Amino acid sequence: MTTTLPFAARMLFASTLTFLAACSAPASPPLVAATASATAQVTAADATRASSTGARSASSTGANAPPTVPLDGPVDVDRVLAHLKVLSVDIGSRPAGSEPERRAAQYIADVLKAQGYTTTIETFTYPARFDDSSVTIGSETPFKGALIDGAATGKVTATLVDGGTGLPEQVAAARVQGNIVLMRRGGLPFAQKIANAQDAGALAVIIVNNEAGPFHGTLGQQRASIPAIAIDGARADRLRAALGQSVTVEAAGGTRTVTSQNVVGQRGSTCRAYIGAHYDSVAEGPGANDNASGTASMLEMARVRGTDGLCALAFGSEETGLHGSQAFVAAHLAGTAQFMLNFDMMGRIDDAIIVGDGGLTQSILGIIGRGSDQPLRAGTFPPFASSDHVSFASVGLPAVTITSGNDPAIHTARDTYEAVRPADLKTMLTLGDAALAGMLKTLGRR
Ligand SMILES: [Zn+2]
Repeated sequence: MTTTLPFAARMLFASTLTFLAACSAPASPPLVAATASATAQVTAADATRASSTGARSASSTGANAPPTVPLDGPVDVDRVLAHLKVLSVDIGSRPAGSEPERRAAQYIADVLKAQGYTTTIETFTYPARFDDSSVTIGSETPFKGALIDGAATGKVTATLVDGGTGLPEQVAAARVQGNIVLMRRGGLPFAQKIANAQDAGALAVIIVNNEAGPFHGTLGQQRASIPAIAIDGARADRLRAALGQSVTVEAAGGTRTVTSQNVVGQRGSTCRAYIGAHYDSVAEGPGANDNASGTASMLEMARVRGTDGLCALAFGSEETGLHGSQAFVAAHLAGTAQFMLNFDMMGRIDDAIIVGDGGLTQSILGIIGRGSDQPLRAGTFPPFASSDHVSFASVGLPAVTITSGNDPAIHTARDTYEAVRPADLKTMLTLGDAALAGMLKTLGRR
């Protein structure tokens, strides 16, 4: 789950926050290939038998009794842990649009195919903002800057001179021609500071914050023909110490097209029920709980519940704004199915909740029971949080996300395989599978 969204995502989802995951080492062969065995090969038949057995026991309880779903179904947490390890350790961080994200998609597709699904990798694109601006002093590691909106992009190396706050007399005194001008934030609008430097022949401008922390600057309706970047105030002393030395300013930002992909596994000719999970992560960590855990759990449920009409979806680019699930509902008539169960963070129980459609939530709670012996209850995400069920709800499909709840490690390097709790994962897997098994029995009844 994320607590903030990139700018482009905020524009689309001003009131949501996304769950996520991340990863970065060479991909391993798919688990299914590594563990090909008699048990792995008979999944479809097993799943059919398991489902029909459950259906019989449910109908035998009578018309008014809630359906009985065994909470110790055939799902195997060890298989989930093995998928989780491939995604979060062998592959590692899986940022939207990255090569590791593509490797993860291929792994998921290989697993679903081996589990008897007709499998497709569907690519999609979307525009995303980026900012790779930086300042480099000598041979030091570059430090991050932020392109000032309206300034030119480009890379300039020249002598750093002190332009004060950018007043015309300060700029004149600094002899800025052919140099890079360091200015403090404040005193004048950004557009005026940069115009003064540009008019005096400066090659680039660095505006350093007047307090610790980064900032985002804009020239409003104005434009500048020289590069200008904003720098964290914590760097002010280092920059002042570099006055008179050669520095490099790189102003690099804008919008680029990201290519990502969803994995679609289908049983039968029509998708009547969906299960889904996002498999991308943030760049900062390996995204084990967020959301290799949900992806791995979804794959195991798909294995044991494979039945005609069930479609298993793995979404790319969730962390950057639900792009994968949005692309899916835009390309398919998803609203004609009967329900969608999404799984986002299944590996560390805090406040385990079902979020989304009220009727579907109540149906699930009716299936798994509401007692204190199981932790799952109806809930809502915190402000600015969301997940992929929202995209399906937007086309009229009853959809929920099932999650083990908040995890302070998500979107950090601490969201690791080792930090996932196998006992919690098993509980969430079992509850999710029971919900799916129970809901699959309702297919075709309406
Ligand atoms: Zn997530």
